[in-house]
Amino acid sequence: MKQIELNNGVQMPQIGLGVWQAKDGQEVVRAIHWALESGYRHIDTASIYKNEEGVGQAIQTALVDREQIFLTTKIWNNDIRARRTKEALKESLDRLQTSYVDLLLLHWPVDHFEEAWLALEEAYQAGQAKAIGLSNFMPEQIEKVIEIGSVIPAVNQIEYHPYLTQADVTQVCEKHGIVVTAWSPLMQGHFKNESLFADIAAAHGKTPAQVVLRWGIQRDVIIIPKSTNQGRIQENFELFDFELSTEEMQQINDLERGRRFGPDPRNFDF
Ligand code: NAD
Repeated sequence: MKQIELNNGVQMPQIGLGVWQAKDGQEVVRAIHWALESGYRHIDTASIYKNEEGVGQAIQTALVDREQIFLTTKIWNNDIRARRTKEALKESLDRLQTSYVDLLLLHWPVDHFEEAWLALEEAYQAGQAKAIGLSNFMPEQIEKVIEIGSVIPAVNQIEYHPYLTQADVTQVCEKHGIVVTAWSPLMQGHFKNESLFADIAAAHGKTPAQVVLRWGIQRDVIIIPKSTNQGRIQENFELFDFELSTEEMQQINDLERGRRFGPDPRNFDF
C-alpha cells in the first residue's frame, strides 16, 4: 500500500480504518483484526468515539506488531476548552495501552486551541506522538497555529469527498506542506445515490465504493473509510489494481457542490 510522507519524514499509510461509531469491545476489536488481515496498517480513532479501550485491546491481541501500525487519536473539544490536553492525552494513551500514538490531532478548532497546540508540541518533543496535527481547522486557524507554534502541523483531517473538496482549506494545507486526510471519504454512504459511480465501477469491474475511494487516492489525500463489516473492510482496501482515467477523474471532480454530510467547522455547537 502507498505511504504518504509527512513534513517531518514520518510515513503515513494512505488508507486507514475509521472507527467512529464502531462499538467499544467486540465490534471494534473484530473490525481492526479484519482490517489488519486485509493489509491495513492505519487506524483512526478519537477519545470522543469512546472505543479507545477496544482499539487498544485489538492492537494488543493482533498478530501485527504495534510498531507496524499507524495509530491516530484526537483531543476532544471539552478537553481543549478546559485546558487539559496533556491530561486527556495521558488518558487516551492509557486506554490505548501504548506509550505513543503515531498522530495526535486537535479534533475541532474550539476556544483555547492555541494553548492546546503548544501542549501537542510538548507531547511531540516528549515522543508521545510521532506527528501532530489538526482536524476541521479552517485557513485562518491553520495560519494562527503556525504563527504561535514552532512545529508545522503534519496533517489536517477534514470532511472531503466528491461533493466537498474544500479548496480554500486544501490550498493553505498545500502551501505549508500539511497533508490532508479525508473524513467521510464514502460520503457516509450517500455515494449510493450517485449513478456516475456505478457506471464507472461497471467499466472497471469494481464496486461504486471502490471508485469513490480510488478517486481520493488519485487526488493524493489520505482516506479513512469506516466499516465494521468484514467484506466491506476488505473491499475498501482493494484500490490498487485499477486506475481512473483523466476523463473519469474529471467527471467525478465535476460533482463538487460544497455539500456537507457532517458539521460545518465554521458553525458548530459542540
Ligand atoms: P464514511 O464516509 O467512511 O462512510 C461510512 C459508511 O459507509 C458506513 O457506515 C457504511 O454504512 C458505508 N460503507 C462503508 N464501506 C462500504 C462499502 N464498501 N459499500 C457500501 N457501503 C459502505 O463515513 P464516516 O464514518 O463518517 O468517516 C470515516 C471516518 O472518518 C470515521 O470513522 C472517523 O474515523 C473519521 N471522521 C472524523 C471526523 C472528524 O471530525 N475528524 C468526522 C467524521 C468522521
